[in-house]
Amino acid sequence: MEPVLEFINVCFSYHSPDGETPALSDITFSVMSGEFIAIVGPSGCGKTTLLSLISGLLEPEAGEIRLFGKSRGMSETNIGYMLQKDHLFEWRTIYDNVLLGPEIHHSLNQEAKEQADSMLNTYGLSAFKDSPPSALSGGMRQRAALIRTLALEPDILLLDEPFSALDYQTRLEVGDDIGGILRREGKTAILVTHDLAEAITLADRVLILSHRPARVRKILPLHFSDPFDPPLKRRSAPCFSEYFDEIWKELKSNG
Ligand code: ADP
Ligand code: MG
Repeated sequence: MEPVLEFINVCFSYHSPDGETPALSDITFSVMSGEFIAIVGPSGCGKTTLLSLISGLLEPEAGEIRLFGKSRGMSETNIGYMLQKDHLFEWRTIYDNVLLGPEIHHSLNQEAKEQADSMLNTYGLSAFKDSPPSALSGGMRQRAALIRTLALEPDILLLDEPFSALDYQTRLEVGDDIGGILRREGKTAILVTHDLAEAITLADRVLILSHRPARVRKILPLHFSDPFDPPLKRRSAPCFSEYFDEIWKELKSNG
């Protein structure tokens, strides 16, 4: 099977009048269809930069990014992006927020509307369809933001610390919730997080990055007895703390 995404010896630096800031150094990894990859690394090491390269906001300085076997620039892969802030518009109802993507892309047809209805229904938000975002809890807002992202039927979903603005308990619940939705929808997802437990409970593999400029320190495959185990169950599995220690050690070691 062909990977959905490949990074081949990718390097990137920011250039400003003050000089050059190398952000990524020789990054190589690939992601298969339906895989959930978590990326962890020190603050400021280049995680968001890596996602910006996938989404095409930035271009690699060296190396190559391939999507479905095609060079990044040649590929028409549909990429969904979910950020820490949900960016729901207060002047639009939840329904109109969810349909924003198809509207902008001029693909707001009956099918898109039915799909939005069905997802709001499946994920427990249909009662809030006509409400403004302020009527929803933080967790529900993130769920609405996810549905809005999924309404564009992305081939890959990029999540940049999407739960970090939530309080601890909500964060656990929403992580569980959103992880479950992505598994059910069979989405290929890349989650950037500084929360190691979140990475271990949600992902199939964890990409551990070094200090800036980020290099791949290790790619750790996670083996739980059932990949569909909900995150809260994974937390109590015996291998959870082994994985945690392994990633922690990798992040702490220099070089
Ligand atoms: P992370 O998401 O891992 O915290 P980023 O990818 O946002 O890190 O940033 C990596 C490094 O690149 C940081 O040192 C940051 O200061 C620098 N950086 C990010 N964006 C820019 C930019 N537009 N211009 C110059 N430097 C930048
Ligand atoms: Mg970041």
